[in-house]
Order: sequence, then C-alpha cells, then structure tokens
Amino acid sequence: MTDRTPGFSTLAIHAGAQPDPTTGARATPIYQTTSFVFDDVDHAASLFGLQTFGNIYTRIGNPTNAVLEERVAALEGGTAALAVASGHAAQVIALHVLMTPGDELVASKKLYGGSINQFNHSFKNFGWNVVWADPDDISTFERAITPKTKAIFIESIANPGGVITDIEAVANVARRAGVPLIVDNTLATPYLCRPFEHGADIVVHSLTKFLGGHGNSIGGVIVDGGTFNWSREGRYPMLSEPRPEYHGIVLHETFGNFAYAIACRVLSLRDLGPALSPFNAFLILTGIETLPLRMQRHCDNALAVAEWLASHEKVAWVSYPGLPGDRYHKLAKKYTPRGAGACFTFGLKGGYDAGVKLVSNVKLFSHLANIGDTRSLIIHPASTTHRQLTDAQKIQAGAGPDVVRLSVGLEDKEDIIADLEQALATA
Ligand SMILES: *Cc1c(COP(=O)(O)O)cnc(C)c1O
Repeated sequence: MTDRTPGFSTLAIHAGAQPDPTTGARATPIYQTTSFVFDDVDHAASLFGLQTFGNIYTRIGNPTNAVLEERVAALEGGTAALAVASGHAAQVIALHVLMTPGDELVASKKLYGGSINQFNHSFKNFGWNVVWADPDDISTFERAITPKTKAIFIESIANPGGVITDIEAVANVARRAGVPLIVDNTLATPYLCRPFEHGADIVVHSLTKFLGGHGNSIGGVIVDGGTFNWSREGRYPMLSEPRPEYHGIVLHETFGNFAYAIACRVLSLRDLGPALSPFNAFLILTGIETLPLRMQRHCDNALAVAEWLASHEKVAWVSYPGLPGDRYHKLAKKYTPRGAGACFTFGLKGGYDAGVKLVSNVKLFSHLANIGDTRSLIIHPASTTHRQLTDAQKIQAGAGPDVVRLSVGLEDKEDIIADLEQALATA
C-alpha cells in the first residue's frame, strides 16, 4: 500500500494481512495449532511476563485470529481488538474486565433476545445487576446510573431491526457518569455505522452475522476504542491496579490506549476460555473482504422489499427506518446514512395464523432463527423464539402474534419479492 490513508474497502481486504513470510501464501493461512515453540528460555519468560508480544497458546492468541482482530479494529477505527468464540462470549468478556459481584450495568431494553436472556439470567448468577433503560427516552439512562454502575450497553441498530439508538445522546450520559459506553454494532457493521465516531468507548460484534456474512461460522469480537481513562477513579481495578500474575504490572500504565483489549485477552479470555477456532477466523476474514459490497446490496434489497410490503393489502405496518415515514428515519439518516441494514419487522392483518401460513409457504426464504446470511431469512417470532411468552409479553418484546421478521439476503430483489408475493397469497 502507498502513503495514502486507505479507504474502507481497501481495509476490508488488506488490514492486518500480508503474504505469509515463510511460504508466500497470499490468503491468510489457517494456523491450526494449539501452541507455539519458544526461541529459548528468555523468550518464553518475556512472553509470559507480557514484555514481548507473541504466540504462546491458541486459547490466548493465534496468528490467523490476529489478522481478523487487526482488520476489525481498522474497520471500526479502534486501537485493538480481541476475537472470541461467539457474540455472546464477546459480551461476557467485555464486561468481565469491568464488573465484580454487586456491580450494575445499564442496558437498553431493545436488545437481541439472546442478550436479554444472557443479561437477565446468567449475568444475575455472576452477581451483575442489569438495570434496563429505554432507548426511546434517553432520560431513563440518566436515571438508571448509580455509584455502582460500571458500563452502559446498547445496540446501534437494535435486533430484530427497526430501532436506531441515539448513540451520541447515550454517550453523553456515559461521559457524565464516568463509565464506558459499549455498543453492539452487529446489525449495522462498521460499513453502516462507526460507533467510536459518536462517542462509544467499546464496540462488540457477533461475527456470526453480517461480518462473516455467509451463515457458516459462529464468532465474536471486542474492539477497544482507546478513548476511556481507566485509571481516573480507581473504578476498574483489573486495569488500574498491579496484577500479581504478571509481576505486578498495571495494565493501563503499561499498555495505554489498548490496555482494555489486552485485559480482555490476558485476564478474561485466558481464564474464561471461549477462544475462536482459527478455521472460523479464516472463514470470517474471507467474508469481511466483501463486506462493503454485501452490506450495500443488503440495504438496497431491504429497502425495495420494505417499500413493496408497505403497499401490500395484507400488510398492516412495516417497521424499517429506511422508509421516509418511519419514526426512526431521522436517526437512520444520521447514524446509518448508507442504509438502515437488512433486518426489519412487519405486521400481517391476518395475525398469528397468517404469520404461520407465510413462513410455511415461502420457497426462496429460509425459515430459521438467524440473520446476516447471503440468503434471505424469515421467522415468525410468536410461534418460535418468543412462543413461551404470554401475549402481553410478546407485544412488549416487539414480537406480537402478527409480527414477521426478515433478514433480506443478496438474491435478486425481484425473486425475493416474488417469493413473498406467492407466500402472502396463501396467508
Ligand atoms: C446474534 C447476536 C448476538 C449473539 O451472537 P452469537 O454469535 O450468536 O453468540 C449478539 N447481539 C446481536 C445483535 C446479535 O444479532
């Protein structure tokens, strides 16, 4: 590359990678090995003491994963990243560095359903108390803050889609409270939204979705924005106090603006253990090379499908922020100007039965619980992911009996619409 600052598409292909120095391999090799040989005893000692960067054991780091980490950090504009086994693992690791039992996390109540479960049940078992706030009313974040709050957690585009969070407004609350803002940027990807530019301190992703993009690998990543002062109030002892297992070094002092990413790796990933397989890292890296092309096509197709549905006689409403009349359209223009993503919900006039008929009769769409595949995906939450809830709870969660969720894929938009048209005719 030349001296120019490379653009997003160039970074998506090249960031973090170079031809393999021993073989000349152009694609990043899959370093499918558990462990790495030391040069000598002194080299081993300096690796274990964090005085030298290098490979020890794949639970803590791996060269294929390192390329993926550098690439996502570059695309988000962060200082460093850590790849882990899943999006949920990323959320545990990201918070494990910050939280101790009795601490509080303020979280948006419009989150991916799996995250709501994780926060309500497993985090409670860790003694982490989650206080829910409403992204449509920023004052609820302000009011939820207490001296025990250690972080704020939101999604940029909230899964199942259709909600855009005012990241800057929440970032201002976090700044006043002296806590980091963590943004789950899975649905937007850095192609559509770069949360660090709006005041976020940490970004997490499920790589499983649009970054990998092909529905073949589970993975997650944590990106350090390098902006937060971990030492100011002694609230984050894992970063600001001496670590006994590393000869008393203070991570924030030693590693500066990427200390948080280091802490995630050498403390939390080391001890909790959800390492990403290098094979998955390879597949996800390959997916990221075409991220800009895919995301633009996802958005263009989703907008065409949303417009078509909005004028269909059997459709009661469509919730897609890319539509001019949508309540989140203004926020979408600010935070995701290239498009509002691929996922959205709509309501059927025929209610529950019409939803069941629709998902039973699609042919091109796949009826399953995932998003961010090249293929178009459909689900009727009331009969699947949310079926254990009461009707009132379903409506509260945005999964009322009439709701259908789409993740619009990369097929020809005429074929996607034709499939919905024939399936709606049966509904
Ligand atoms: C899927 C998803 C997750 C969880 O990721 P996994 O890779 O399935 O563990 C977290 N957040 C959002 C927004 C998601 O869509």
